[in-house]
This record gives sequence, structure tokens and C-alpha cells, in this order.
Amino acid sequence: MSELKYLQGYPESLVDQVRNLIAKQQLKPFLLKKYPCCHDIKTEKALYDFVQELKSDYLKKSAPISKVVYDKKIHAVDHALGQHAFVSRIQGSKLKAKHEIRISSIFREAPLPFLRMIAVHELAHLREKEHNKAFYNTLEKKL
Ligand SMILES: [Zn+2]
Repeated sequence: MSELKYLQGYPESLVDQVRNLIAKQQLKPFLLKKYPCCHDIKTEKALYDFVQELKSDYLKKSAPISKVVYDKKIHAVDHALGQHAFVSRIQGSKLKAKHEIRISSIFREAPLPFLRMIAVHELAHLREKEHNKAFYNTLEKKL
């Protein structure tokens, strides 16, 4: 089921639903009807503010985010929809940790709930790095 790799870890009933829609070639019309395109979060500043706002709603106590950008390459090169990175730097006598989120630029022209979904996913990695049960529990509570 390589075409459903982004749904790994989601409940089987949801994955079945998607699989059915794909088989009937109904996934795209279904999604477009449910989620009309598109949001107006086009600039990096707007994207940063959007993610920052989600974070203050859901994950107030987690580490601050230094950077959020749309990335043109990660989808084609890494087959990823989003990425997060922790960068540690020594500044003077202090160790400063920076947290960066990259979101595939395919979400620039997407329905808002899709952008929101990937942003929440990457934010949940502030709590839990792996895609394990704890990670998906966090996601389910926050969505
Ligand atoms: Zn992830």
C-alpha cells in the first residue's frame, strides 16, 4: 500500500474509506466537495503566523519555533509533506536550540484543512519525535 504511506498509523476504518474512494476514482471529487480550495496563506510570514497561532492554541508549553517555511524540494526529493528539525547552536556560553518546520509548497495551493493538518503534524513532533502511539494520541487530541 505504498500509495497510502501518509496514512500509516491512522485507524484502519479511515484507511479503508480512503482505499475505497481511490478504487472508485472518487477521492479527488470527494475531497474538493468537502474542502473547497484554497487558503490565502501564501507568504512565509503568513505561514509562520498561522503555525504560531496553532501552537499557542494547542501546544503552548512546547519549545518555541524559530522558523516555518514552504519548501519546494522536500516533496519531490524526500517524498515528505513536511519536516521538522532541531538545530543546536552555541551562542556565547549558552546552548540555543532552534526548532524549524518546513512544509511542502504543494500545501500553498491546497484547502486550508490540509495545510492545518500538516502543520499540526509537524507541531506534534515538538512533543514526540517518532511516529509512535504517543505521537498519534497527541494528534488525535489536538485535531
Ligand atoms: Zn512526522
